[in-house]
Amino acid sequence: MQNNKTPFERSWVEISVKSLRSNLGLYKAHLPSQRKVMAVVKADAYGHGDRVIAKYLSDNGIRHFAVSNIDEAIHIREAGAVGQILILGYTPIERANELVQYDITQALISEDYAERLATQGLPVKCQFAIDTGMRRIGLNADDQDYCERIIREYAVKLKLDGLFTHLCVADTPEQDEFTNHQIKLFEDVVGRVSDLHLPYCHCMNSAGGLWHHSNVSSFARLGIILYGLKPDYMNTLPEGIEPVLSWKSVVSMVKEVNSGDTIGYGRSFTVDHPMRIATIPTGYADGYPRLLSNKGWVLINGQRASIVGRVCMDQMMVDVTNIPDVEYESEVVLIGRSGDEVFTADDLANLIGTIGYEIVCGISKRVERIYID
Ligand SMILES: *Cc1c(COP(=O)(O)O)cnc(C)c1O
Repeated sequence: MQNNKTPFERSWVEISVKSLRSNLGLYKAHLPSQRKVMAVVKADAYGHGDRVIAKYLSDNGIRHFAVSNIDEAIHIREAGAVGQILILGYTPIERANELVQYDITQALISEDYAERLATQGLPVKCQFAIDTGMRRIGLNADDQDYCERIIREYAVKLKLDGLFTHLCVADTPEQDEFTNHQIKLFEDVVGRVSDLHLPYCHCMNSAGGLWHHSNVSSFARLGIILYGLKPDYMNTLPEGIEPVLSWKSVVSMVKEVNSGDTIGYGRSFTVDHPMRIATIPTGYADGYPRLLSNKGWVLINGQRASIVGRVCMDQMMVDVTNIPDVEYESEVVLIGRSGDEVFTADDLANLIGTIGYEIVCGISKRVERIYID
């Protein structure tokens, strides 16, 4: 993969393919040997670019992918993803023919959804979602008889090749009892229909794959940890797992401001001593959270520069008073490493009460993704 970084981008994301590869290897090393990886590349591979990531993983032996919707599924299929692509959520029934055309596997959200899909009379591959406690989608596993009856019915009417459930607190050790209960319910459902020999029964997300066990889970559906981020800020990831994505921009102007000046919209920052301010051409339209106004920081020349005033749509201002050698086109690290300082998407998210997932998924399309090995 070549480095096509042009020297003077406005705002860009660098994706380290080397880190992706290494995260995958480290994660696999923690899995029981019989369990494989299903790569979760929904939401444009968590903002990392689904075409490139899916093609890369496919070329390197991954044969199972998960996405959130049919457009994402077709997108990675056309980019060269080989093998099974599972849609984890809703697809309009009217598009069932495309599921067949592109050889995509559809999650069955409910009995009602399965019936609507079956009525189309198409040979659609599918897997039943089982609700073991999240109350989002799937057949309610509290009623095992019901689950068994519906699974058997649609194993005949559709091309059913698996079952899956989703763990909602697998990243929270204090809630292990609930997770164990979810896994047990899932195993019970799988056990009841074992004679159907469904090849793909899986219940682990990134956190589950690392910290929980099940005898029936053939896959870990690996999302966030593939990208080197934490399911929960309190988690400790295995040694060596590192963020794949860095986000960079440049300084477009440096200026001196004086006591009494105010900075930005709403005049939310008042200058109380002479300061040097740098303007950066990245803003909330690029996906940089406006909640970081007067709160976050970026890295320049290996040092922290605090955001002063409100983050604008396309620009923001930072304090570089104590940072030497900041000038026009100095590199700015919004997420990533600069010198000895590292600021991750998880750190940034934690400042504003959200999760790294939301930050990386939110980096907008106008920010170019550049792949480096
Ligand atoms: C998003 C998702 C995953 C991946 O979760 P991570 O926490 O990113 O590993 C797995 N399974 C389902 C059903 C999902 O929706």
